[in-house]
Amino acid sequence: MNNAWWFVLLLLAVAAVLLLLSLRERKKSGLPGARVVYADSDLWQRVPETLLDAQLGIVGKPDYVMKTRQGDLIPVEVKTGNTPEAPYDSHRLQLMAYGLLIRSNYGKTPLYGLLHYPEKDFRVDFTPALEAQLLNTLENIRRMERERQPPARSHAMSARCRGCGYRRICDEKLG
Ligand code: SF4
Repeated sequence: MNNAWWFVLLLLAVAAVLLLLSLRERKKSGLPGARVVYADSDLWQRVPETLLDAQLGIVGKPDYVMKTRQGDLIPVEVKTGNTPEAPYDSHRLQLMAYGLLIRSNYGKTPLYGLLHYPEKDFRVDFTPALEAQLLNTLENIRRMERERQPPARSHAMSARCRGCGYRRICDEKLG
């Protein structure tokens, strides 16, 4: 066999390895194949580093970013626990924040993101209203930090309080 054939075989082997790695990443994400077809995705890519938007003052790292054949980027957040009837507001805002982080870090504005719960996936459109809701929430968080005034408790979960950044100054903490 001449060198050209060895080279072709090597390229095929590399392509097979890349395909296997891509399939493994997709499987690890827990997202079923049919959903990927729906999203028109042909490439899965773990975000290698924490994304930062200094102007908005936010950092984050989506579980996955999908890239469509058209080159659009789509953040995907994988959630464990109960599957809700509709995505939680906090999860929608988290996904919207990833949309803004992708926009500032990659110069592309995602049109939507995907929330993957154990039993169902939800598409979350990045509407101006959702973006405004996120910016408003960020402003409220900053105001509470400035005034050292934690939010009123809206739950009875001590585990949540134990991992909360307001714990030191919160009179309503549990546990
Ligand atoms: S410590 Fe608990 S009650 Fe207080 S802000 Fe945090 S999560 Fe809410």
